[in-house]
Amino acid sequence: MSVKVDPNLMKELKAFGLEDANKCFHCGNCTAICPLSTPENPFPRKLVKYAQMGLTDRILQSPEPWLCYYCGDCSDRCPRGADPGETMMVMRRYLTSKYDWTGFARKFYTSEAFEIMAIAVVGILVGLGMVLFRADNPNMEHAFLNSVWPAPAIEIADLIMGGILSVLLLSNTWRCVKFTMGDQLKKIPLEIYISQAKELIVHFITQKRFGECSDRTQWIVHLLIMTGYSTVFLLVVVFLAGGIHVVGLSWDKIAFQRDVIYPFFHPVRLLGYYATFAIMYGTTYALIGRLKKSKAPYKNSHPTDWMFLILLQLTTLTGIFVHFTRLLDWPMTTYVLYVVHLMVAVPMLVLEVPFAKWAHLAFRPVVIFLTKVKEAYAEQQKAAA
Ligand code: SF4
Ligand code: SF4
Repeated sequence: MSVKVDPNLMKELKAFGLEDANKCFHCGNCTAICPLSTPENPFPRKLVKYAQMGLTDRILQSPEPWLCYYCGDCSDRCPRGADPGETMMVMRRYLTSKYDWTGFARKFYTSEAFEIMAIAVVGILVGLGMVLFRADNPNMEHAFLNSVWPAPAIEIADLIMGGILSVLLLSNTWRCVKFTMGDQLKKIPLEIYISQAKELIVHFITQKRFGECSDRTQWIVHLLIMTGYSTVFLLVVVFLAGGIHVVGLSWDKIAFQRDVIYPFFHPVRLLGYYATFAIMYGTTYALIGRLKKSKAPYKNSHPTDWMFLILLQLTTLTGIFVHFTRLLDWPMTTYVLYVVHLMVAVPMLVLEVPFAKWAHLAFRPVVIFLTKVKEAYAEQQKAAA
């Protein structure tokens, strides 16, 4: 089988943040120390080698970048300062851009100016839309969001956003599946995919492989941010987007960001508080770590790493402010803060979920699942031989 060499690959990866991979002299320490590397899928040295040799096709088919959680153990032990953990991170950015058929992800990761401009444009459009499409006579005696932006209008906007996000993310995930599986996609019987399906769910919810790394704090921080964000996503995009009607509740019963204040111990309110705590703790920890460069995963921060944390924290902070001004019944302050909240939250959702850092929430569990499928198929073949 011929191997295509891409002489520009290193230059290309540098555009995605690669810095030190050329220093590697292939001692193998990093692969030996990595708690997640296996004989079937050894990394990170293999990926450093692919980068140095210009093996683009091999990288596209490699599940390994998604099997790494960037604990930084390998970077700490590299005698050459080649930062193999960062190489794996760069590979994830590069692969995300390859999976994305729109070309947005590439622009996002390779141009800081484009990233800032895209976020600003979407935020301004959201703000303008909120100001232009508000009701004529908002309630100025009490903080009632429904009196300014009627719930059905928010539902329609939310459904449209949810639909677009789903199409983009699913189509990019399908490309991830095709690249990772190659010819094996159709060759492996359906029952093997079905038998391994639980891996997809388990890894999505627990990120349990991360727990095998030596720095368990990183795993907990990652888990807090992931579960906090997923909870908010579920509450806002799924429930607010009409799913709640399935269980027969009407709009004015949806308290997450509308007008009814649930009792303190109501599950929806408790879930909201959990998500708020989890995101604020996780993002503050990561932001301080990146500012101090306190450990290997925080040493080289790409602009998208900062933007992701800042947007997430701003969304949560403005959400907290809206919650409290609603409780205090300050109408004008609530309405203004609600607009600011959506001007931050919507760009984060529509740009970060399908095109940037959040996309790994889909890609990683899918690739771990596909790796298990391949292993189960290989075992079946071995038993049959
Ligand atoms: S990245 Fe560092 S530890 Fe890994 S093989 Fe290269 S020199 Fe050795
Ligand atoms: S960052 Fe951690 S999980 Fe990733 S390759 Fe290095 S040691 Fe392995």
